[in-house]
Amino acid sequence: MLQCAECGGPYAISGKDRYSCTNRKKRLPIDELGGACCGNSKTITRHELEERVLNCLPVAFYSLDIFDRISEKMVAHETNKLKSAPSRRDELGEELATIKSKQASLMQQIQDRHAEGRPRLAILDDQLDELEVTREKLVKELAGTAEEPVEDFQAKIAKLKAQFNPANTELAIRELIFLARNNADEQAKRRLMPIVRDLIQTVVIGKTPGHQPAALQVHGDIANIMASMDVMDILQQQFVAAAQNDFMARIASGEIDTEQKRKKLLEAYAEELLRKSPEWENLQVS
Ligand SMILES: [Zn+2]
Repeated sequence: MLQCAECGGPYAISGKDRYSCTNRKKRLPIDELGGACCGNSKTITRHELEERVLNCLPVAFYSLDIFDRISEKMVAHETNKLKSAPSRRDELGEELATIKSKQASLMQQIQDRHAEGRPRLAILDDQLDELEVTREKLVKELAGTAEEPVEDFQAKIAKLKAQFNPANTELAIRELIFLARNNADEQAKRRLMPIVRDLIQTVVIGKTPGHQPAALQVHGDIANIMASMDVMDILQQQFVAAAQNDFMARIASGEIDTEQKRKKLLEAYAEELLRKSPEWENLQVS
């Protein structure tokens, strides 16, 4: 999922929670680079990677059919779990087989002792008796456990579909995004990441000058959705609207009382917009 922009090789964990280009680390000669080694020395922590990817998400989730898709996947996942869950009948069959082999082993021990002329051990007899009690209980339960009717299974699936309907899924995911942004809630983030990973095929990590953070490009469904929505424009509009509100609030509060302060604040907004733009432009259509 993580790819090097320079050599196309994988980014993998090296050191504590930090990703780096595997080809560069192994000093592998790269055909595409004329036999040279990869020159991408940028590394990124898991924390920063997740934060930056998550921070460009919320707008992507405004697209409704994404919740339909996730809802479908969740139902499929739960249905599979349901299907692969062992039935009580199967479980009982396995427990009975285990008891049978324990009983056989105990009987063998008792017989061996008898053949060797050694005295009978009460503890072996007791164990044998206990096993027999358990076995009889399981046999009774097995007799009373019918094959699971097909209707039950269908009803369970219908329940799953109701539980994971697109509207519920949307609510749940929006809540998770809200909690997970800026690494605020680690648990919410852990729950959100599998969904995010499902929507992102590749994150390409590229070189930047000096100590600047690595460049990130996100490829996958997320990028397609965002591209089709002119997300860049939406993000900029949202930013400008928020900045205007902030500006008016500060003027109203009397905080901005000189032309100089006014100019400085506007410059700060412009700077922040510029700072945010590269992050937004990192969302590329694959
Ligand atoms: Zn590389």
